[in-house]
Amino acid sequence: MPSPLSFKGMLWWCDTCHTPVLSRGCSRCGGVTRRVMLTPPGDPRPAFPADVALVNQVYSDHFGSPLVPDGHLALLNKVPDTDRMEEVIVGGGVVGAIRYIPGEGRWEAIPRMESFGLSAPARKWVVADNGAAAAIRDRSASLLAPGLAGIEPSVMKGDEVFVLDEKGECIAVGRARVDAAVAESMERGLVVRTRRTFSSVCVPGKATWEDAVAANAGPLAEHEEEAISFVKNVARGHGSLPPNVSYSGGKDSLVTLILVTKALGDVPLLFADTGLEFPETYDNVREVAAHFGLPVTVARGSEAFWEAFSTRGPPARDFRWCCRAAKLEPVDGVIRNTWGECLSFIGQRKFESSRRMASHRVWRNPHIPAQVSAAPIHHWTALHVWLYLFREKAPYNRLYEQGVDRIGCFMCPSSDLAVIRHVISRYPSLWEKWDAHLREWQKARGLPDSWVEGAGWRVRGVSGEEDYNC
Ligand SMILES: [Zn+2]
Repeated sequence: MPSPLSFKGMLWWCDTCHTPVLSRGCSRCGGVTRRVMLTPPGDPRPAFPADVALVNQVYSDHFGSPLVPDGHLALLNKVPDTDRMEEVIVGGGVVGAIRYIPGEGRWEAIPRMESFGLSAPARKWVVADNGAAAAIRDRSASLLAPGLAGIEPSVMKGDEVFVLDEKGECIAVGRARVDAAVAESMERGLVVRTRRTFSSVCVPGKATWEDAVAANAGPLAEHEEEAISFVKNVARGHGSLPPNVSYSGGKDSLVTLILVTKALGDVPLLFADTGLEFPETYDNVREVAAHFGLPVTVARGSEAFWEAFSTRGPPARDFRWCCRAAKLEPVDGVIRNTWGECLSFIGQRKFESSRRMASHRVWRNPHIPAQVSAAPIHHWTALHVWLYLFREKAPYNRLYEQGVDRIGCFMCPSSDLAVIRHVISRYPSLWEKWDAHLREWQKARGLPDSWVEGAGWRVRGVSGEEDYNC
């Protein structure tokens, strides 16, 4: 069995089955797979229909045609940016990205050359003449006015555009520096600043997520077997501690729950209820408990949260007192009252963050001394998790199908503005209550309106005090 570490940030694609694969061989057709290059950290996840609809809307609005063809599997890979940017993988290649512009409250399409053939854009292109094309194609030169052979009339300054040669083949992508009308009358100067990207191979073809599960039968079985034996070993090593699964309503804790029940039989769920969960999360905790026939032990953190809020104000990215007050301390209290001490299996994965990359697989959190924690899926990528949930037909949280990729408190200050604006529009009444608390604090402290409306409360400007990963 290969070391789980060898899957680190790695993704392959089967060009016969047209699915992502988590190993060098395809379990469905037996063929050899092709390595897919991604921008680090590289923890891609399936694009659900709502995600595909968003990507296609953003591309259609700008280029006049959608990016992801019908019936094709797509993945999203979150990449570092000022707010939020997602690479879009289709046919085993990065074919573009979408990027959120907080100041304009909208998503922008950032194309790759690979998307030209896939999406056949109806507008936003320029043509370089034969004299200029070679330098643009081979040396990533920018397009200057003397080399311009044509420009689609709707191109405006700041637009993302495709650069074509005179035969109509795409030779670059980049950003227009002038409007089309200006470009046509210019004698010299920059028309398009081109962008250098790593090249990607896209082999389009239709497939279903059932095909993807079949293509990954081998790596899924290996990961499952390794995780189950880990759970058994840890439980044996802590024989005196009653086991449970720390269940958040998220995908990682659901996989952990399935693995632990396969290894140990029935165990209780330990749910930290901050009082700030999405309605879908409460539904999911009930549904999962009923589906597996397991009891739920709840640690309530709502009271402690609002008590702390009254003196400290809202938690911020750099002032996250919330996790300790609303989760860790209530969890410690419940464990002491219920079991004295316990062994909790937690859906923590090292690919989630650089901090978790360095963390151990069995540990004791200093703020929950009554709990030994263990992470059966420490080595799994998000794609392992999703394919496993699809394979098991597991009742995952419906939020994932609604454009929310990280389950936690609905107002988490660590969320991107893209997510917060999505939550505001989708859950207006939930947000109104939070907004009322923010305004109370704002008035009492004489803070500007932008502190609430521009989401300025999310950053306090103090140095990392009590900074926990929730
Ligand atoms: Zn295959």
